[in-house]
Amino acid sequence: MPAADEIAIVGAGIGGLALALGLARAGRNLRVYEQAPQLKEIGAGVSLSPNAVKGLRYLGLGERLEALADEPPTQVTRHYANGRVLVNFIRKRTREQLGAPYLQAHRADLHDLLRDGLASLQPDALVLDKELTAVSDDAAGTYVLGFADGSQAGADLLVGADGLKSTVRREVFSEPEPEFSGFVAWRGLVTRDELGAEQSRPGSMVFVAPGRMFVRYPVRQGALQNFVAFSRVDGWTAEGWSQTGYISTVRDVFADFHDDARVVLRAFSGEQCHKWGLFSRQPLPRWVRGRATVLGDAAHPMLPWLGQGAATAIEDAVILCRALIEFDDADDALRRYENARRGRVNVIHQASLSGGKRLMQQDPDELARKPVVTEETMGLSLYDPATEAL
Ligand SMILES: Cc1cc2nc3c(=O)[nH]c(=O)nc-3n(C[C@H](O)[C@H](O)[C@H](O)COP(=O)(O)OP(=O)(O)OC[C@H]3O[C@@H](n4cnc5c(N)ncnc54)[C@H](O)[C@@H]3O)c2cc1C
Repeated sequence: MPAADEIAIVGAGIGGLALALGLARAGRNLRVYEQAPQLKEIGAGVSLSPNAVKGLRYLGLGERLEALADEPPTQVTRHYANGRVLVNFIRKRTREQLGAPYLQAHRADLHDLLRDGLASLQPDALVLDKELTAVSDDAAGTYVLGFADGSQAGADLLVGADGLKSTVRREVFSEPEPEFSGFVAWRGLVTRDELGAEQSRPGSMVFVAPGRMFVRYPVRQGALQNFVAFSRVDGWTAEGWSQTGYISTVRDVFADFHDDARVVLRAFSGEQCHKWGLFSRQPLPRWVRGRATVLGDAAHPMLPWLGQGAATAIEDAVILCRALIEFDDADDALRRYENARRGRVNVIHQASLSGGKRLMQQDPDELARKPVVTEETMGLSLYDPATEAL
């Protein structure tokens, strides 16, 4: 089949926007359909491992990203109760060893970079308030996308970048629903003023307990302190996977944690924060059907224990973008994308599952003897989606 004339990307999250920006830089004709009436990211941080940073460099965002992100010199894992340092991972040589830095950023800043980059090249490419509800293909082999507002759009090639509960995945690949992992995460940001004298406490820290974990790191050059508090719970009854959480609950659940963790929760001035149910599903056995494919959480939602969900969405986007640019035949390009991505993502998906079990094991002191970040997991970040063979 010749190159696709119009590419439809469903979902303007990190993965969908990364693909759109890459294709727009190559002058390709595309539309991004996003269900939200306004594009805004949640108030939370995101860690960007070197493989993600290399992908963002490919998209021309390297310098701007580094200007607004933080590069932690160390990542310290500590015992939840006594605060003892179990692992002190020095990040100073990461840039040199892995070919790019490990960065931590505000999700909204990353999202804005991607959206603004796309808008500067193709101002009309992003269409908001378009919730995809159905997909069919007509006799000529063109996809017909049906939206909640009753409108329709056509496309030669369809990419589902519509996240965990992907409609494209459901409509095109008919896969079972995601499964609740047994964990929830509360997320929030605390300002420098709220933290007061505590702001000077050093960089990125993780406190580990059996079945619970508390992560804190600065973003926007220390103007904000990001926290993510994970806990095992009995079940998830909410309709979606995100809902309002209450900081009083988080304070109760983490009341026995070391003060370097609790201080962030004490400083949080609001009553509400974000609460997420953590869901996972097996990566798709096939990523391509006809001229439709998926990327990011739509293809392989994973548990966040290795911080590789957004990173692999960016990798997917860069590899798919390169395949569509470098190979004229769209079927060939999609095949190469699937071949390049499936094996790697399966390995990371599995490593994320086992990483969580080890991080929140019965005896946190075990981590000092056998850390989760090893040569093997570090090796995952050597990957460069800009140069990987297709
Ligand atoms: C607590 C937590 C912490 C995390 N921390 C990290 C981290 O530090 N580093 C990291 O790399 N990853 C992290 N992740 C994972 C990361 O957030 C996700 O993997 C990543 O956001 C996936 O991006 P995506 O573009 O595939 O999907 P999403 O970000 O989910 O974007 C999907 C988009 O599609 C839109 N959409 C959905 N359905 C439709 C529809 N029917 N029609 C139109 N539009 C639709 C949505 O509105 C959304 O804009 C974390 C996840 C969690 C839960």
